[in-house]
Amino acid sequence: ENYLASKTRYDNMQYRRVGNSGLKLSALSLGLWHNFGSVDPLENQRHLLRHAFDLGITCFDIANNYGPEAGSAESNFGRIFKADFQPYRDELVITSKAGYYMWPGPYGEWGSRKSIIASCDQSLRRTGLDYFDIFYSHRFDPDTPLEETALALDQLVKSGKALYVGISNYNAENTEKIAAIFKDLKTPYIIHQDRYNMFGRDPEKDLFPTLLKDHTGAVVFSPLAQGMLTGRYLHGIPEDSRAARKDSKFLHVADVESKLDQIKALNSIAEKRGQSLAEMALAWDLRQPAVASVIIGASRVSQLDDNVKALNNLNFSEEEEQAIDQILA
Ligand code: NDP
Repeated sequence: ENYLASKTRYDNMQYRRVGNSGLKLSALSLGLWHNFGSVDPLENQRHLLRHAFDLGITCFDIANNYGPEAGSAESNFGRIFKADFQPYRDELVITSKAGYYMWPGPYGEWGSRKSIIASCDQSLRRTGLDYFDIFYSHRFDPDTPLEETALALDQLVKSGKALYVGISNYNAENTEKIAAIFKDLKTPYIIHQDRYNMFGRDPEKDLFPTLLKDHTGAVVFSPLAQGMLTGRYLHGIPEDSRAARKDSKFLHVADVESKLDQIKALNSIAEKRGQSLAEMALAWDLRQPAVASVIIGASRVSQLDDNVKALNNLNFSEEEEQAIDQILA
């Protein structure tokens, strides 16, 4: 059946400015790393994308290698986009990335001009889009001059394949270096994407201060620590959870078990705040002034409903912050 987006989709979402750019992102973005591969049912993907947009989530985050198999998240997104979202193209921020291994040989990964431009062209073909709103260098390449990577991204903008560019997984030092090059080139570099959640607080040290100083925005991924910072594992390891899935190599049952005491303690703070643990974990990320958006993953529509409720309580008292710090120490 034809998709008609909800008329109330902009009523409850918040839109936050990315650094000092003109672009705003929905406080929550939906990421397609998991649950959008050729191994996942297309109908569920369609429900997730439709429901996310109906909740005011305007940002869909993809990368060349998302799947499995690599590339299939982009192809699936393209199929659904063509059927459902074409009328809404100008209401969406769609991103992709190049840098991790994608195809064999010396050009299928990292940050050379050759690799970045070829990968972006492939991603445009798979998604069927004319352009990406943001295109990222997915990781720092120690063997390619930063200037080459920057110029390749700049060319994507100049050739109409991307509106803005960003970098992901670059440390603060390399971020400062490439930011200076972008500044010289007047490239619309506006955003940095890194992992940030209660169990991984590295960006607080150098990265967020660097981005704030530079007026660059942050979007953060795995805000729920892949599901650990939710109610998902409070009563065991569900069979259909990411930790139990055989096609996901990045979260293991052992990771969950080693953190279970902390998860339970955090959950009781969330309860006192009148929130689910997932809601609190997202609110906690959004308390950072640099952060424009948290990129969540979801395997079902009900998780989206839960997660957007984070916006109902974004404030943390000093006592709550201290109690959380103590649990995480
Ligand atoms: P999250 O930390 O948000 O984990 C998402 C998972 O948590 C879901 O798949 C689901 O797991 C579980 N979950 C979500 N909401 C709830 C809820 N309310 N209650 C219970 N469980 C819940 O993010 P991801 O690790 O998936 O990363 C998000 C996105 O970030 C990616 O899709 C990608 O776009 C981006 N990313 C970017 C990277 C980069 O290098 N730039 C690296 C990694 C991610 P379950 O399947 O068990 O239901």
